[in-house]
Amino acid sequence: MPATIIDGRAVAARLREQVKDDAAAFAQQHGRPPGLATIMVGDDPASAVYVAGKHKASGEAGIASFDHRLPADATHDDVAALIERLNADPACSGMIVQLPVPGHLDGVALTNLVHPDKDVDGLTVASAGRLALGLPGLRPCTPSGVMDLLADAGTELEGAEVVVIGRSNLFGKPMAQMLLAANATVTVCHSRTKDLPEVCRRADVLIAAVGRPEMVRADWVRPGATVIDVGVNRLERGLVGDVAFDEVAEVAAAITPVPGGVGPMTIAGLLRNTVQAARMQAEAEGAPAR
Ligand code: NAP
Repeated sequence: MPATIIDGRAVAARLREQVKDDAAAFAQQHGRPPGLATIMVGDDPASAVYVAGKHKASGEAGIASFDHRLPADATHDDVAALIERLNADPACSGMIVQLPVPGHLDGVALTNLVHPDKDVDGLTVASAGRLALGLPGLRPCTPSGVMDLLADAGTELEGAEVVVIGRSNLFGKPMAQMLLAANATVTVCHSRTKDLPEVCRRADVLIAAVGRPEMVRADWVRPGATVIDVGVNRLERGLVGDVAFDEVAEVAAAITPVPGGVGPMTIAGLLRNTVQAARMQAEAEGAPAR
């Protein structure tokens, strides 16, 4: 029987409606909306498209957004000064340093200047540490979007065997931490994993985040498993994931498509984090908690 398709667009749309309500409630209570600042250095066209998408989505959610652009030859100190200014600005609840930055700059070092309570991408060392230690904090948007999709699909994680392919700081590692926190038994695979198909066949939930088109085949998947495809690969025939969708859908119980699966969750998660950041800061300032 073909798998149930996990509809990321629908789940993301519901999350964005919730965020819109939460942003309106915050604005009513505090007299200003949550605010998202983006910092873009240089004029990389792909980054410009991503940044524009974040501002459009913010506007639709009732979140103020601030578009900071610096020239391609901006120095580390120029960018650092802007980050420090935004760290101190109460109108900015969250900020993003749009990566990649030009080659003379260190994107990781710059990202780490963002105050952890404003780190809406969840990518600073402080945010990664909070996640690893199970402390409250802002979580990376794509893995938290996967958690939302699994919850929406009714996937039981407690005690489940979950295999994550990919160990990046952006996705694989935080994904593993979130699954552990949900009491799953987690295996993280990477380019040196021996007999990857065999490891994948153990999975009740298989999550692929590699960047290799249609790498995961039907015979890698345990019948009845849930398969989450994080991969985004642009081929001539269009966008494809890391999972061979048509054949895996014949084996899995549930599967995310590409596009329309994990992708839409990332920006919704960013908006949610911005409202959460605004609340955290308001509570820290001593405003009455909602
Ligand atoms: P990344 O930093 O390049 O990491 C890729 C991971 O895959 C690495 O851990 C690598 O192992 C592993 N890998 C590479 N070849 C492999 C192989 N043959 N067998 C097993 N593992 C292998 O990528 P990323 O940033 O995590 O992103 C992964 C994919 O997800 C990309 O397609 C990206 O576009 C997509 N993505 C989508 C979203 C979204 O919003 N939908 C968000 C983030 C990422 P090593 O560590 O050993 O090198």
